[in-house]
Amino acid sequence: MARVPLEHLWLPFTPNRDFKAEPRLLARAEGVHYWTDDGRRVLDGCSGLFCVPLGHGRREVADAVARQLVELDYAPSFTRAHPKAFELAARVAGFTPAGLDRIFFAGSGSEAVDTAMKIALAYHRARGEGQRTLFVSRERAYHGVNLGGVALSGIAANREAFGPGLPGVYHMRHTALPENRFARGQPEKGAELADDLARICAAVGGGNVAAVFVEPIAGSTGCLPPPRGYLERLRELCDAHGILLVFDEVITGWGRTGHAFAADAFGVKPDLLAMAKAITNGMQPMGAVAVKREVHDAVVERGPRHAPELFHGYTYGAHPAACAAALATLDVYAREDSFARARELSVAFQDRVFGLADLPAVADVRGYGLLAGIDVRPKDGRPGLAGHLVQKRLFDAGLHLKATGDALLLAPAFVAERAHLDEAVGVLREVLAAVEWA
Ligand code: PLP
Repeated sequence: MARVPLEHLWLPFTPNRDFKAEPRLLARAEGVHYWTDDGRRVLDGCSGLFCVPLGHGRREVADAVARQLVELDYAPSFTRAHPKAFELAARVAGFTPAGLDRIFFAGSGSEAVDTAMKIALAYHRARGEGQRTLFVSRERAYHGVNLGGVALSGIAANREAFGPGLPGVYHMRHTALPENRFARGQPEKGAELADDLARICAAVGGGNVAAVFVEPIAGSTGCLPPPRGYLERLRELCDAHGILLVFDEVITGWGRTGHAFAADAFGVKPDLLAMAKAITNGMQPMGAVAVKREVHDAVVERGPRHAPELFHGYTYGAHPAACAAALATLDVYAREDSFARARELSVAFQDRVFGLADLPAVADVRGYGLLAGIDVRPKDGRPGLAGHLVQKRLFDAGLHLKATGDALLLAPAFVAERAHLDEAVGVLREVLAAVEWA
């Protein structure tokens, strides 16, 4: 139980009164486990919040950050820079899809998304197509919490308190079709849902659309892998209308699919790619946008040489400690061949998660790579109540994961052993079997 006063902290995306009545505090972490403040060990089934794939407490990364803070703690990144920012940009460009080799750093996934929106607008304006100010995204999308990203997002709860937000954003339908329930990997049905983009272009003028934003696998809203052919179709339509395709790979980036990026896993190349989370193994905040060279050049080669080409940037973009953490993390990814390990482990992981499909409390299971979503049957017709109760029971039984609404999200660390996967599904089976409303 907590020994610190709880009333001062306003927790994000948390029912605060409920939490403070029964706080669940994480005090320590190592490997694939957390320890609560009262000493209980909890298996981390979600790599924190999808961001710690190499496991907690990696010394290589922690030591690199400590060394960096002593050598150069902070350097402004407006009209100044530090060598590790360049080194990291070059290293990141070695992983991103070919041609997306210009890197803009931010402090989080939300900042990366809003950065990508601005780059898209700036690109079109630089080419004399400043009328392209509209964006297209998707229902059930999560693109972070800044007002640009919220406008793109397709989660009603994340939007309804905040008024109209950014105008000019159109949403395609989501791809969670009932006929794809319990589909493992990419579902067979639904590629035609990409034609929603064609309809939107027909309605508003494709020549007015700046960019289409999609998570290749919708992550936070329950793990929705793209139907076969869906991303390919979006790519074709974007090309036909001169629209930039942006992949939000804040969750899927850095190995979660068994490849560096979901763009590689699905063989579809975007024009911009937003990333965050696992770029530093979650050990420092960082976001980034990888930009196709032509897009970068169109913006940067315009305008007088004494003024910024893009009036955008963050005090903590390319923070030296974050760069050091990312460089050390990328070293480990290369040394341990982490993405191949994720790919190999994903088969055992998906076998186990889909093995829960027989439970009456389970309404659907979806998964790809080391990411899976399990829908729990709703309770009392109140969306989110079942997910909320189940994630608390799971935690008390020794498993941390994220619940969004009634979807439970699993994203084990790439360094997890099969025994940890057994343990996770063991706890899930026990808790889900005891659900009294199914
Ligand atoms: N985009 C996607 C796809 C995400 O999943 C998230 C966070 O989970 C974000 C953006 C926002 O990232 P952050 O919480 O680092 O701002």
